[in-house]
Order: sequence, then structure tokens, then C-alpha cells
Amino acid sequence: MNLGVLSSGSSGNALVVEHEGKCVFLDNGLSGCEHGKRLQEAGFHGIQPLGLFLSHEHGDHVRGAGVLARKWKIPVFSTRGTYFGAGLHRQKLPGGFEAAANGDTVELGPFSVTFFSVSHDAADPSGFLIRAGGVSVGIATDLGKAGALLVQTLGGCNGLVLEFNHDLDMLWDGPYPWPLKQRISSGLGHMSNDDGAELLSRLAHPELKVCVLAHLSRENNTPELAMASAVRVAEDRFTLLAGSRHAALPSIQVV
Ligand SMILES: [Zn+2]
Ligand SMILES: [Zn+2]
Repeated sequence: MNLGVLSSGSSGNALVVEHEGKCVFLDNGLSGCEHGKRLQEAGFHGIQPLGLFLSHEHGDHVRGAGVLARKWKIPVFSTRGTYFGAGLHRQKLPGGFEAAANGDTVELGPFSVTFFSVSHDAADPSGFLIRAGGVSVGIATDLGKAGALLVQTLGGCNGLVLEFNHDLDMLWDGPYPWPLKQRISSGLGHMSNDDGAELLSRLAHPELKVCVLAHLSRENNTPELAMASAVRVAEDRFTLLAGSRHAALPSIQVV
């Protein structure tokens, strides 16, 4: 299984998971053109997309959802809250829409994709557990806190994409207005570097190979600070990478 982090951050999020030439897309906050360009840059050539899964309706995750679904004529999978919140009912989706509830598992080609509920200020937001060929990847970005359900769901993953949104000191000392600072740091907002590291420590196990630090804030974080928090947990047991809003990471083999 290969994981692609095409873009990560509040300006746009787009992930891809590939197995034996087939793939699923997760979120798209990029233009159709930029998404295609970054797929190539990451090393995903000639792949066959089977579907687009959406986590929640915030623009940085769905801005380019309709265009991507039309470009590849693939079905869109999300909760009804995400679908209506994103206004997708007003768009043409030639591949159709498949409603899923948090807790559901969708079987699609070689992939099995489980939706689970996350704590975030959206209509009905989801995290994902994706399995194919005996390998699993867990995705949890855009969440204010991680509960027992999330830890139980993602406990056995070989790869993880976890939110390391902000450094708490940078957030409180930074330029954001007070209500926004409160929203970000609340249980329905975004996880700090300390929260991300704490979650990672609960999810780490001998078969975890790689963790991508995701959704880093431009104003309130740096890759160095996020990495420093995660390294304290990972030591040398698994690989750490930081996602970027500027460029795709090279395709990550998760074994
Ligand atoms: Zn987001
Ligand atoms: Zn969000």
C-alpha cells in the first residue's frame, strides 16, 4: 500500500491511498489541475481511482471535491452531513453519491474504508481507517480531541496521518483574534503538537511503520516544532514525516 500526502494544511488537504494500481482519494481542497500535478509529482502514475471519500465540509477539504469527482467520474462517499454541508447536492456528480454513517465500512475494490466519528465543529465529521492487502492506514486530522473510540479504531495501524495543528505558545501569543484562538484550542477545534504527540504515544506499537504529521498551521506552528514533539514519542521506532501545503510528499510505502 502506498500513501500520498498531496497537500496538508488549512489552505488545502488531499490524500491518496494506492494498492496494486487502484486508489481512493481522501478530501480535496486543491483545484483539479493542481491535484493532477501533485499526483504526478508524488509518483502516482497510471493509477485507477475508485472513489473520493470526504471527511467534513470545511473548504480546505472539499473545495475541489466536485471537480475531482467529475474529472475521474468516481463516486463520492461521505456522511449526509458532510454532503449537504459541502453543497454537493447542488453539483453534478456523474459517479453518484454514496451516503455512509460513522461506524460504517465501505468495501471498494481491494479497499475497506471504515468511517469513524471525530470531535470537530462540522455537521458530521469523519476520520478513516483504510485497509488493503493486509496493511492499514489511519487518518485523523481536524479534531479537537481524541477519544477512546478513535484510539481503539486506529490502534493497529501500520501507517498514520495525525493532526499536529499548532504550538500552544505560538497560538496564544500569535495574531489570531481571541474567539478564533478559543475555537482552535477547544475540543471541537484542532489538536496541538502536544495533543498529537500524546495521541501518537497511545497508538504506537511494533507494527507501526510511519506517521505523517498533518494539518500544520501556517501562523501557529513550524514543521520543526511539530517534529520535535513527535520525535520524543517515536524515538527511532518508526518514520516521521511532516505534510506540507506547498508540495506533495513523495509516495510513502506502508508495509
Ligand atoms: Zn481542515
Ligand atoms: Zn475542519
